[in-house]
Amino acid sequence: MRIALIAHDGKKAEMVAFLLEYKEEFKGVELVSTGTTGSHAEKAGLPVRRFLSGPLGGDAQIAALAAEKKLDAVIFFRDPLDKHPHEPDVQMLMRLCDVHNIPLATNPATAKLIMDQLVRSS
Ligand code: PGA
Repeated sequence: MRIALIAHDGKKAEMVAFLLEYKEEFKGVELVSTGTTGSHAEKAGLPVRRFLSGPLGGDAQIAALAAEKKLDAVIFFRDPLDKHPHEPDVQMLMRLCDVHNIPLATNPATAKLIMDQLVRSS
């Protein structure tokens, strides 16, 4: 089980709260993330393989994993109230999740549904 974590700056606090709430469920899950999101996850006590920071290509690296079908889910807390220089990479990642039918949560409510289902079925 490999899950990707990404949170825009305005959503990092929500990501940390989500990770802490599901810390037990994340045991045994291989986590990958964009750079800064990953450092927050590590501080929350979750080991994670960190890629580049999002604006420097981290979302594109995670999109490449999605293209290779190497992800079981993507949890991507987007900030809809802010502009992002790497918006094309964001769109690419979401498109590739749809191309390959990879569960994609863009907010905590959906992420919780995905985690509850994954835990129940594992
Ligand atoms: P970050 O990237 O985790 O390095 O902040 C996330 C993003 O902005 O896509």
